[in-house]
Amino acid sequence: MTFDDGPSESTPRILEILARRGVAATFFPCGANVERLPAIARAAAEAGHEFGNHGYNHPLCCFRSPRFIEADIARAQQVILERTGTRPAWFRAPYGVRWFGMRRAQRRLGLRGVMWSAMGYDWKLRAAAIVERLAERVSNGAILCLHDGRELQSEPDIGSTIEAVRLLVPLLLERGYKLETVSQLLCPTT
Ligand SMILES: [Zn+2]
Repeated sequence: MTFDDGPSESTPRILEILARRGVAATFFPCGANVERLPAIARAAAEAGHEFGNHGYNHPLCCFRSPRFIEADIARAQQVILERTGTRPAWFRAPYGVRWFGMRRAQRRLGLRGVMWSAMGYDWKLRAAAIVERLAERVSNGAILCLHDGRELQSEPDIGSTIEAVRLLVPLLLERGYKLETVSQLLCPTT
């Protein structure tokens, strides 16, 4: 299970649900949100969740220069390291949009790209629809994408995401799935 665009003021409610079930997730925060809410980002890292990189300002990178792209990703990498003490190993492009220069920036920053296999569309669907969508698409090795923030908004309403996580985590555990971080899933020997 992965969460993009956080942290937000409501991220702690997701952390509570995950903690109650003993589940680790991977967060792809925006650097600007980490800088805005460093204590929440740190709490997630201390709870054992993994951090990836989702850019600093959540830019749409098409038609942007390689220099712009690298600067944004590097700034996020720096802020996440400073604020959480963890160095992301994974990069998820904002909006899932890759552009020229991104691959080189990733390589220079020691990042590998990772997308998702099932998208929750949780910024627009209601909780029941999110759960139904993801429950239909889940399989061994699946990477589910949800959002604990809404790009750079402060105090976003992520009620549908929270409710979906509350329903989805027990449902997946009952089906026998084990929820792991991206590194545990893709690099099981490390
Ligand atoms: Zn995003």
